[in-house]
Amino acid sequence: MKPVIALVGRPNVGKSTVFNRLTKSRDAIVADFAGLTRDRHYGTGKQGRHEYIVIDTGGFEPTAESGIYMEMAKQTRQAVAEADVVIFVVDARAGVSAQDYDIANYLRKLGKPTVLAANKAEGMTDGVKLTEFYELGLGDVHGMSAAHGQGIRDLVDLALEPLNLPEPQEEDEEADSGVIKLAVAGRPNVGKSTLINTWLGEERVVAFDQPGTTRDAISIPFERGGQRFELIDTAGLRRKGKVFEAIEKFSVVKTLQAIESANVVLLLLDATQGVTDQDAHIAGFILDSGRAVVVAINKWDAIDAYQREMVKRSIETRLAFLKFADMHPISAIKRQGLGPVWTSIAAAHRSAMVKMSTPVLTRLLLEAVQFQQPQRSGMYRPKLRYAHQGGMNPPIIVVHGNSLEHVTDAYKRFLEGRFRKEFKLTGTPLRIEMKTSK
Ligand code: GDP
Ligand code: GDP
Repeated sequence: MKPVIALVGRPNVGKSTVFNRLTKSRDAIVADFAGLTRDRHYGTGKQGRHEYIVIDTGGFEPTAESGIYMEMAKQTRQAVAEADVVIFVVDARAGVSAQDYDIANYLRKLGKPTVLAANKAEGMTDGVKLTEFYELGLGDVHGMSAAHGQGIRDLVDLALEPLNLPEPQEEDEEADSGVIKLAVAGRPNVGKSTLINTWLGEERVVAFDQPGTTRDAISIPFERGGQRFELIDTAGLRRKGKVFEAIEKFSVVKTLQAIESANVVLLLLDATQGVTDQDAHIAGFILDSGRAVVVAINKWDAIDAYQREMVKRSIETRLAFLKFADMHPISAIKRQGLGPVWTSIAAAHRSAMVKMSTPVLTRLLLEAVQFQQPQRSGMYRPKLRYAHQGGMNPPIIVVHGNSLEHVTDAYKRFLEGRFRKEFKLTGTPLRIEMKTSK
């Protein structure tokens, strides 16, 4: 499980700017849940070999009724509670404020590893103004400037240090384990628990006794048709008699962690609701994570032919970016349509873990070039020479050659299509990277 870092602090201290530095990507998803005073952002980042999830909580705003007391949205409290480490951002220029004390008190009570980051410290003589932040009783103060990109690397080191993270597993070890790590993701009430119980209650599925626990997240091992799976839980499932019961209703953090640590994600939609913004956000996060994905449209039993047509259309438009994924209408309650979902999960997993040899990739690349040359750009015509596999889950194909920075997106899509077809890839993103030799 990737560690979760929560950014907290009063408005305007620079949390979003820090967030953007830590995630270095457009990968952020915005969650819009009722009861939030402000949107929160979720993203992933990487330093060295360690990957992490960052939440910009943004919810520590006092409300009119509660005066100086912090009225945190429930989801924000939950996000902080679920984080492994908290980065508390303060404004080095403004100095300590009353609100900073409130937040510091809250964090001290929480007893979580906390890094105190004094942002906007660019050009300030070290330690001059930062000393006053020791009064917050949270230990050392890390001076930094998100806007100028100073002290970011150290900040991540400070945040990850107390977690004693194990060295990440090599991809190959994972691929050879023969277990498909599966996460069922979807917003509240789409039918995740119902589906999981239907699965685990099926005769063909053998769920092993005790769910294993990895760093708070529950995973349920089971076997189906000789294939071993590990169901990565998003809702805190506990066995209660014969059925598994969701302890928490919905957790964004658990959803993101589950997606990140899965090989295949089953995205569950609710046919009676169509594709909502939140579905699209979760789908976007799955795409950015690079995980393989299968889409199941649940509650198909509850809508008529006209509505079915509308749902199909809304998926085509709103989830167009998941075109590579198989989509299946199902009914978790009536146990309908579940077989093809398993077939797609297996195909997506195989595709995500595909091994592509350099000679075969290079041959396909050169055939593609012969079929259609990349466009000339001014004086340059990109020269594609050979290709090798740069990773799996998602599969990455690295193309080597000259002037490759001039290869158009359209041409990359053309290559992607050829590779997909040859390797029969379905349900996984395929990334193509260009590497120009000097
Ligand atoms: P948030 O409300 O805590 O998320 O704060 P923002 O990230 O939106 O930043 C608030 C303001 O502070 C913006 O105008 C930023 O440009 C500015 N800011 C953020 N980081 C720095 C910094 O390192 N130095 C300075 N001088 N300004 C910063
Ligand atoms: P979760 O929050 O995603 O775990 O959703 P639940 O499994 O708790 O289901 C939410 C609601 O949808 C419950 O009332 C279920 O009975 C209902 N539901 C789940 N699957 C189906 C289905 O296939 N058809 C219909 N009509 N309702 C369903």
